[in-house]
Amino acid sequence: MAADLDNAEIADALERYASLLDLSGSGYYTVRAYRRAAELIRPLPTPVADLLRQGKVQTLRGIGPGIAAVLEELVTSGEIARARELEGEVEPELVGLGRYLGLGPQRAVELGRAVGARTAGELREAIAAGRLASVRGVGPKTEAKLRAALAREHEARPRRGLLLNRARELVGTLAVQLEGHLAGDPRRWADVSNRLAVVCASPRPEQVLDRFATLPLIVAVIDRRPDRAIGVTVEGIPVEVVAVPPERLGTELVRATGSSEFVASLGALPAAADEESLFRELGRPFVPPELREAAWAPSLATGVPPLVELDEVRGDLHVHSDESDGKATVFEMAEAARDRGYDYLAICDHTKNVRVVPGLDGDDVRRQGEEIAAANERLAPFRVLRGIECDILPDGSLDLPDDILTDLEWVQASVHAGQRGSADAMTKRVVEALRHPSVSCLSHPKGRIINHRPENALDLEQVFEAMIEEGVAVEVNGLPDRLDLRDAYVRAAIDAGVPIVCSTDAHSTRGLGNMQLSVATARRGGATAADVLNTRPLDRLPLGPRS
Ligand SMILES: [Zn+2]
Ligand SMILES: [Zn+2]
Repeated sequence: MAADLDNAEIADALERYASLLDLSGSGYYTVRAYRRAAELIRPLPTPVADLLRQGKVQTLRGIGPGIAAVLEELVTSGEIARARELEGEVEPELVGLGRYLGLGPQRAVELGRAVGARTAGELREAIAAGRLASVRGVGPKTEAKLRAALAREHEARPRRGLLLNRARELVGTLAVQLEGHLAGDPRRWADVSNRLAVVCASPRPEQVLDRFATLPLIVAVIDRRPDRAIGVTVEGIPVEVVAVPPERLGTELVRATGSSEFVASLGALPAAADEESLFRELGRPFVPPELREAAWAPSLATGVPPLVELDEVRGDLHVHSDESDGKATVFEMAEAARDRGYDYLAICDHTKNVRVVPGLDGDDVRRQGEEIAAANERLAPFRVLRGIECDILPDGSLDLPDDILTDLEWVQASVHAGQRGSADAMTKRVVEALRHPSVSCLSHPKGRIINHRPENALDLEQVFEAMIEEGVAVEVNGLPDRLDLRDAYVRAAIDAGVPIVCSTDAHSTRGLGNMQLSVATARRGGATAADVLNTRPLDRLPLGPRS
């Protein structure tokens, strides 16, 4: 049978296959290779079937003989036989629903088999009908927990909030596939996403919801109403799709984007085709998604100042090279930064005290200085700055001798160990470091690792005071599991008059892309370009030690 699959359908099939391989315990790199092949094929202008016929498919980056053979099979037969086998073995529907309900993959499949359920719907029915009680090893507690989780379906939340980069990627992909709009928490660039949503405009909403149910990323639909549905991914993450006629798109986007507090503060929402007209009809200035967090603030009644934009950033002031724990050389990082349109980049590798990864001592810093000079010769007028991410030692001193620090143009000061110290000890330690004339900026001040480590007890009010006195800036770190400072603290820094630096802390050329997350976090704190130091040209940066 000739299958006539187009590139989007081929990409869907590869993605689904990748998820199945993942569930069956295939290696990380194999799974990733199929996911990447899907990403590559989806937007290709030439049909993959033609490339196969011409024997050219392996000229595509990342497509080796293994994936080429799978593509050949897919194009000739319309399916991947191994995928069909795996579907019987790993039962992605049960796994997805099970994870959403808090069951491990194996347990979900076991339970499903014990009550004769092959699909999410059947498992749900079995739970609702109390048939689980007869399964060995299922106590009344487990059963009650599963029932309670099912009862919450129409307000489905993931078991643990998603990091911003993952949430944007998942909802962004689904939005493209449904020709809809990314909404929910990731549209506000929330540091952790609990509500994931896509809003679609269509004269035939039921068609959108039908299509949603067939997407490869969605293994089971757990709730469906006339204008919305909730599906879960194989990881058990629930995503809501809202489908409405075009004349209500603006209304539903506002509803699906703002925090519940913000939406409630708007009162009854009129029907509107776009968000701008909705705010106009309400007689209120437009509020960018990043600020739709708290209830409507009266101080905003005059309108929102223009928030800093990604393309206003002129350089990145905190990145690593392969001389500590980065993946790329100084030159590669610099070249990638220049290719992003930046004017400058500060290389800030770790110092020795960090221990868990390689750190630089004084001699290493000098040697790196020569490498930076060489990169500058090749890349001028682009400027690579001599920087360091210098550990703050327990007594507040810095992890490099003064004569080395004096030579540097940009010094990030960082606490990496001892985040559990008391507020008093932490604050003394950090303030002491800020008094050092070489320090330019404090890195990831609250030290949190989202979902893993809570914020430290550092007293930001005292720290901001010292920063104003010393002329030191504060970082908004763009690593997706840090986003530190976060929104409310950004606001506090701006109110105190402390300059902000949006940085990526990139450990690879790809990591430079996290600038978007840092800028979005600064925007959530209401930052304008004037508040952000690295929107300035090089000659207006405060470089080198303060006199
Ligand atoms: Zn750090
Ligand atoms: Zn760093």
